[in-house]
Amino acid sequence: MRNTELFERAQLTTPGGVNSPVRAFRSVGGTPRFITRAEGAYFWDAEQKRYIDYIGSWGPAIVGHAHPEVVKAVQAAAALGLSFGAPTEGEVLMAEEICKLVPSIEQVRLVSSGTEATMSALRLARGATGRDKIIKFEGCYHGHADALLVKAGSGLLTLGNPSSSGVPADFTKHTLVLDYNNTQQLEDTFKAIGDQIACVIVEPVAGNMNLIKATPEFLQTMRRLCTEHGTVLIFDEVMCGFRVALGGAQALYNIKPDLTALGKVIGGGLPVAAFGGRADLMAHMAPLGGVYQAGTLSGNPVAVAAGLTTLKLIQADGFYENLSAQTNKLAQGLSAAAQQAGVTFCADSIGGMFGMYFAKQVPATYAAMMETDKEKFNRFFHLMLDNGVYLAPSAYEAGFVSAQHDDAIIQATLDVAKQAFAQLK
Ligand code: PLP
Repeated sequence: MRNTELFERAQLTTPGGVNSPVRAFRSVGGTPRFITRAEGAYFWDAEQKRYIDYIGSWGPAIVGHAHPEVVKAVQAAAALGLSFGAPTEGEVLMAEEICKLVPSIEQVRLVSSGTEATMSALRLARGATGRDKIIKFEGCYHGHADALLVKAGSGLLTLGNPSSSGVPADFTKHTLVLDYNNTQQLEDTFKAIGDQIACVIVEPVAGNMNLIKATPEFLQTMRRLCTEHGTVLIFDEVMCGFRVALGGAQALYNIKPDLTALGKVIGGGLPVAAFGGRADLMAHMAPLGGVYQAGTLSGNPVAVAAGLTTLKLIQADGFYENLSAQTNKLAQGLSAAAQQAGVTFCADSIGGMFGMYFAKQVPATYAAMMETDKEKFNRFFHLMLDNGVYLAPSAYEAGFVSAQHDDAIIQATLDVAKQAFAQLK
């Protein structure tokens, strides 16, 4: 009962008992598990129960939890001092590494969260173009900056509230929301007001309305329209960067955005995020230009040590081939198990990310995603959880596989899933 006890205590001092809403299990019901330790593909809760973990801290744990090399690097960096508020060599190495791995990024700035990365990229796009209007897509989540908190996905979908109170209408009046994967609508919008649009921001692989991949045509048209109209194209790769491929989704789709936001994997479990892109755009950032952004802990040496080590580990030969193969095995296995049990279900994956949908086919739009069977998902979630498999506690979140999810772990998951699907009917 330790989880229940901790949850009750947490609710006395923390709103909803959690520091990020989806952790509260509001969508799926039940008691959140309080985690005490993690290793490889597993974590353990406050009652010593072990789970196979498929959220990986919502993306960062790509090399597995507590990877010995990452832990060693963090310990060594911590012993030298936790934070200086002055530049370090680690930041230089980290920037060089990111620029090497993501060819569209010529210059990069480190921040501490994905929210800061997208918020700053947005300000930069507006500062550089002198325009106010921005385009985002329904169901894409870009962190919790005011201007981007419009029809955003994940936690907000889970709470059934596609926006947030506390955001003045004035702050979002320049945010246009279009349909994901609707190329014609994008064309029409640019035709009407293209020259007023500062930027288009998109998750090229959307992981905040479950998993929905952009069609190549949608992203190619976006690239062309942005170039034609002097609009900055921002890929929000906070989730899919270094998750779907070494160079991010932009490498898979072979499209160069003007700016990219990164996070999650590049911090290896500690708070590092980044935004970067064309050098002529980045030259607008203070202290060179007039676009302001700063951070007490930006480029923190301990966090950078975790990030740099993770970036080294993911460059190992065959890393992404293996990760993709394991994730695909999981998705295919889940689909087969559901079919065998006669449950309407399908799954999809890309790199180390997967989606599960209680629907006949993989949704391509936010509207289709919203029609999947949430109640079935909730029951499935608890059947899996009871039997030691921890999935994202929401029907609208993607799942994550790490390099430590080997064949035996995937098979153990599928064995549990078989039982769960059988009970769902
Ligand atoms: N952008 C995307 C695509 C994300 O998935 C997230 C977080 O899940 C963010 C931005 C915000 O990142 P953070 O939670 O680090 O602020």
